[in-house]
Amino acid sequence: AAAALGIAVALAACTGGRGGGTGSTTDNKGALVGVAMPTKVSERWIADGNAVKSDLEKNGYKVDLEYANNDIPTQVQQVNTMITKGAKVLIIASIDGGSLTDQLDAAAKAGIKVISYDRLLTGDKNVDYYVSFDNYKVGVYQANSLLTGLGVLDADGKPTGQKGPFNIELFAGSPDDNNATFFFNGAMDTLKPYIADGTLVVKSGQTNFNQVAILRWDPATAKARMQDLVAKSYSTGTEVQGVLSPYDGLSDGILSALEGAGYGSGGKKLPIITGQDAEVASVKQIIAGTQYSTIYKDTRKLANEAAKMANDLLSGKKPEVNDTKSYDNKVKVVPSYLFQPVVVTKDNYKEILVDSGYYKESDLQ
Ligand code: BGC
Repeated sequence: AAAALGIAVALAACTGGRGGGTGSTTDNKGALVGVAMPTKVSERWIADGNAVKSDLEKNGYKVDLEYANNDIPTQVQQVNTMITKGAKVLIIASIDGGSLTDQLDAAAKAGIKVISYDRLLTGDKNVDYYVSFDNYKVGVYQANSLLTGLGVLDADGKPTGQKGPFNIELFAGSPDDNNATFFFNGAMDTLKPYIADGTLVVKSGQTNFNQVAILRWDPATAKARMQDLVAKSYSTGTEVQGVLSPYDGLSDGILSALEGAGYGSGGKKLPIITGQDAEVASVKQIIAGTQYSTIYKDTRKLANEAAKMANDLLSGKKPEVNDTKSYDNKVKVVPSYLFQPVVVTKDNYKEILVDSGYYKESDLQ
């Protein structure tokens, strides 16, 4: 028995020695994982947070899930606390991708691995993995659905010969969110030829990212900008016929500005408006015909992948990635696992959102 014990001790010492920064499964059993989410204002982040938490808990980990109310100092504080509490992995969906560099450095020093969740953490080498969607493609899909809604492209994405001209306006997301430029670039690369040949006309002339970006993805800011655009560029009887919107919350603000200006009644048609996230309120607008499209990104898959990566890291395994070139955070290219987005309109919402179990039909009534 003594000899057997001796072997067991020797083996344990050996495993401990080889475990390195991430340690062995036994070391990290029940370890704490910190999950930092940006805000509860948008439904998607609530779903993301809950799903990451429950997937981690299924694997026996303890979870500290925090929401920062879209306030950068609050998120900095929350991540600091996770490090102090001894988290072994951090899963972070940032507010401002570049504002957590001190925390990332402190995490690396303490041997904590960092997974950048949906939004890329920028300006620091201590970002181990990124899990997200193909964000450039999200923008391409938004632009394509705008063109389809206007009748420039058919349902298969082929040109119909319809050349407008159609008046459109453009919106982009928060400048401190790395995704916002990916969405906008994907959309603009798709729309530019149609702007160049006169099929699409941006009457305000505002086509640069900085002119159309909405800080913190704030719906009220988008509403105010749309009101301003209507007042300044569409006061002479011309109407806006399409709006590129990168997120359902913004689409909602834009719609409300337009309805306030008389669109949607008295023969003044609401424009084709895009979106993203398939939030319940927006899917209802799509069913009602006021919003044209949204982009569905299955947050269950994203959350599950992040939890899987954390589990791999804590078990001494190398997480699986499927992209090693797209996401340069200004210091390093972060190995990524990317999922594919899907366009949702009135025609396919049942199949995509209800049949997949993402929503129940009754959620959307
Ligand atoms: C996410 C989008 C979301 C937006 C606003 C982006 O980083 O990728 O899904 O619509 O933030 O919350």
